[in-house]
Amino acid sequence: RTVYVNGEYVPEEEAKISVFDRGFLFADGVYEVTSVLDGKLVDFAGHMTRLDRSLNELGMKRPVDDAQMEAIHRELIVQNELEEGMIYLQVTRGAADRDFAYPSEDTPPSLVLFTQSKPLVDTAASQNGIKVAFVDDIRWGRRDIKTVQLLAPSMCKMAAKAQGADDAWMVEEEHVTEGTSNNAYIVTKSGTIVTRNLSNSILHGITRAAVLRLAAESQMKVEERPFTPEEAKDAAEAFVTAASSFVQPVVEIDGVTLGDGKPGPIAKRLREIYIAEARAQAI
Ligand code: PLP
Repeated sequence: RTVYVNGEYVPEEEAKISVFDRGFLFADGVYEVTSVLDGKLVDFAGHMTRLDRSLNELGMKRPVDDAQMEAIHRELIVQNELEEGMIYLQVTRGAADRDFAYPSEDTPPSLVLFTQSKPLVDTAASQNGIKVAFVDDIRWGRRDIKTVQLLAPSMCKMAAKAQGADDAWMVEEEHVTEGTSNNAYIVTKSGTIVTRNLSNSILHGITRAAVLRLAAESQMKVEERPFTPEEAKDAAEAFVTAASSFVQPVVEIDGVTLGDGKPGPIAKRLREIYIAEARAQAI
């Protein structure tokens, strides 16, 4: 695989990052994951806008502009013959003597990108749905910033797996925040889609924004508000969204089977509409 590291395209075995990189020592970095369908980028502009927001919130510099960023994504797609999968992008505050204080302004940020080839459309998880379990949300207070400090959600995911689930739905103050790497939705028995409103408590999903727009365009009823674990277990259906999984049906919540245990009609419909639009708009 060819990866991109600070201006160079190199085989992954030859890629080098300093041991003093603040991404490595402090998780002082942000990332984006953009999906690739038919060799094209899905919602690239949305990911660049969120990258800018994450960088601004941390007072971090952007290493290259949007046009260059797009050119790097495209070059990696070509060099790795990527048809379907993801491109991971990471910006860190760069390498400096280990100190909690940020290094001087002239420290160059690090930029790393790599591809991951993976089926996104035809997957067992989307056919059968996934199981989630409730786990305490032990993450920090700025989940709206897409940082690489992902140990807490890793721990939450492992706790859910230990209970036999595929992922955690993290819970804070008796309300669901989100999945470990996705936004969480329930569909009430009266057919309303409920997902938590945007705040510092959750990541502002790019897929979430697109799915909520498509739901509204399809005359589906949507409420953006926190929901409780009890409401979730009583839901007609449920699903999660993320760039790497689009709309993924959830069929079991904390040991309770939803409906007939198969992906629900609204989740299936939104997945279809989302994928059709993603294909049509990909660049
Ligand atoms: N929530 C969290 C915590 C995430 O890590 C992610 C994606 O990785 C999402 C939500 C979904 O965001 P997006 O749709 O932009 O991929």
